[in-house]
Amino acid sequence: MLAPLPISDRYRLETAQLDLPPRLLLGPGPANVHPRVLGALGIPPVGHLDPTFLALMDEVKDLLRYAWQTDNELTIAVSGTGSAAMEATLANVVEPEDVVLVGVKGYFGHRLVDMASRYRADVRKITKPWGEVFSLEEIKTALETHRPKVLAIVHAETSTGACQPLEGLGELCHQYDCLLLVDTVTSLGGVPLYIDEWGIDLAYSCSQKGLGCPPGASPFTMSPRAVDKLNNRSNPPANWYLDMSLLTKYWGETRVYHHTAPINMNYGIREALRLVAEEGLAERWQRHRTNAELLWAGLKELNLTCHVDENYRLPTLTTVRIPEGVDGKAVSSKLLNEYNIEIAGGLGELGGKVWRIGLMGYNSRPENVILLLNALEKVLHS
Ligand SMILES: *Cc1c(COP(=O)(O)O)cnc(C)c1O
Repeated sequence: MLAPLPISDRYRLETAQLDLPPRLLLGPGPANVHPRVLGALGIPPVGHLDPTFLALMDEVKDLLRYAWQTDNELTIAVSGTGSAAMEATLANVVEPEDVVLVGVKGYFGHRLVDMASRYRADVRKITKPWGEVFSLEEIKTALETHRPKVLAIVHAETSTGACQPLEGLGELCHQYDCLLLVDTVTSLGGVPLYIDEWGIDLAYSCSQKGLGCPPGASPFTMSPRAVDKLNNRSNPPANWYLDMSLLTKYWGETRVYHHTAPINMNYGIREALRLVAEEGLAERWQRHRTNAELLWAGLKELNLTCHVDENYRLPTLTTVRIPEGVDGKAVSSKLLNEYNIEIAGGLGELGGKVWRIGLMGYNSRPENVILLLNALEKVLHS
């Protein structure tokens, strides 16, 4: 027998036990996990075809339909992070040469452009400065010009802190025979959102932002209109793992094995969604708004300015302008190293210009706001 190579000298067994600092995660995600979700994650896994697990999958679907306010049959948790569910929306409905119009007003709009191009869509873009949103009129003009099969837009742009109004958009898209695809990663569970009422055909989210769960199981929903487009494709989606015509056999009636579901992540997201249902959506949305307003008032007292107009400001993520002469990176490092509080800096157009503060899901609580404001005041005046 060949002797196995010894373990690297760099790996010392005595330090292998995980010992991480108790961070308060007030950045753009992940957010802290609710204790009840942590408890659920530690329940021993059953098999992915065990009748008890199949029943749990049905519960996840029902709970997701409530959180998203939809009756869509095809509503599941995709195995993977938000980007996997994002890719699932495009992979299933985009055929090569389809015109896909993307509203780009931040980092995640660019990601939609990149992904749609990889599925060989004819991608068209409309853009706005980071921190602004599109008007219905601007989108109507673009639909008229480009006549897309799909309009993709981000509801809650985590890179800018702006919330895109969606009312009336679905109706408009359907007049132009276009599917409406919406990124709800930083809105689900924190910001008013009505998939059916607003005529949204495809949406995706993640578990680690507004839902208070670790990353790894990502909400996905598709309207009957979008399912029709999938069923009428001339070739199957170019992505096997995310092909809904295969996945629905596992999540639907026939229960055919597709891939091994991440069992414990589904325990986690089920508990997170149960917490949403227990609290009630209206109450949860209000809680996020109240705590965000507490944060905005406190920032004002510190003479700090929010980047986004109050009318479009997201309750789940606030971008704060870094004042002239202040080293933004040094402030966030101090918050992390001295106070165990994580916030983030800006991306893209807002790189070096803003801090990003998240109050998402379980973390949207007044005591966290006060803790952050006090620490920020100390750091800014030190
Ligand atoms: C976080 C985020 C994503 C990507 O989700 P991951 O879980 O990081 O893959 C997509 N869109 C928006 C708006 C996000 O904030």
